[in-house]
Amino acid sequence: MKIKVLLIFAVFFLCYCYNVYASEDVQENINVGIILDTPSFRAGSSKDFFISDASNKKLKLTKGITDIYCSEKGIQVEKLFLSPPLKIEPSNGVIFADSKPYRGYLIVEKSGNKLNIINVLTLEDYIKGVLPKEASVDWNIEALKAQAVISRTYAIINLNKHSSQGFDICSTTHCQVYGGAGVEVTPCNKAILETQCEVLTYNGELAQTVFHANCGGHTEDPQYVWNWQDTPPYLKGVKCDYCAAAPYTNWEKVLDESFIRKQLSDNNIGEIKKIKIEGKTSAGSAKELKIIHSEGELTLNAYQFRLAVDAWQIKSHSFDSIKINGNKFHFKGKGWGHKVGLCQWGAKGMGEKGKTYKQILVHFYPETKIEKVVYK
Ligand SMILES: [Zn+2]
Ligand SMILES: [Zn+2]
Repeated sequence: MKIKVLLIFAVFFLCYCYNVYASEDVQENINVGIILDTPSFRAGSSKDFFISDASNKKLKLTKGITDIYCSEKGIQVEKLFLSPPLKIEPSNGVIFADSKPYRGYLIVEKSGNKLNIINVLTLEDYIKGVLPKEASVDWNIEALKAQAVISRTYAIINLNKHSSQGFDICSTTHCQVYGGAGVEVTPCNKAILETQCEVLTYNGELAQTVFHANCGGHTEDPQYVWNWQDTPPYLKGVKCDYCAAAPYTNWEKVLDESFIRKQLSDNNIGEIKKIKIEGKTSAGSAKELKIIHSEGELTLNAYQFRLAVDAWQIKSHSFDSIKINGNKFHFKGKGWGHKVGLCQWGAKGMGEKGKTYKQILVHFYPETKIEKVVYK
């Protein structure tokens, strides 16, 4: 009996200590599409570097830069035609592609009569080139650690996003912005190291770690933004008392009626007389807007209205009021972005108030857990 109790205790203790995300092992390397559909690019290194091709030809190049072209006869490097894919690796340090440094190595694939340049590196090193692009590098370490867990989780969940093109993830806002080794900064690298392998899970699955700049006081349920029918409990929306001093917590914008009408021209509307807020979401945002115009009425989802008119000028769909004065519409609202998931300015505020990254994550994604992935 005693042994049984001890065993149960030992198993519980192990699970509690390591909290391993056990669904499956995660690949250690990630293939990032960094330059796509290009006729040529420049590879280089400050040390010697090596190029090998599919037929096992190997070149050793001395430090410097070399131009690489797509050709009907293969991939041209100097006067040689090599068989794709090429592998380009530094003897030491980073490898350059079009003047930007990258950790790991490069793969050059032919795609039709163009080249795709893929950076292969460890997932942990990849996050180092993402975090400075997704967060403000001078924010406190706990906010950066929360963002590191988010970026890692997002990368792993999206590992198959570009599999049809022969890589895992692209380097633009389509996936996550990745700037290579040249954008790395010490505070972000520290945040990544201190959260090494950690991801956010819900019910044993990786969580959808959506985030935005500033929620304006309450985060949003994605059903009102992306029309999700089954919102996971951790994305239902929470109160946020930490972003009150952030930019655009309260914003105002004046736009010409003619500009709004032009942006909504797909809907064949006449001169806009009034824009009415129809219903509020649980986060206090507008659900829909009724546009009363000279030809009739049009009802639009408030978030879709923001995207159609100008998401940069209208900071959120959390409208407090919309008034007309002459031929100008005066919008007042709260927050910046879609408002779903973690509020970045709120995370910064929580960190400044002494909250840990775990408290930040569980506040914005309630009922989730932080677990460690195992790389294979
Ligand atoms: Zn992408
Ligand atoms: Zn907030």
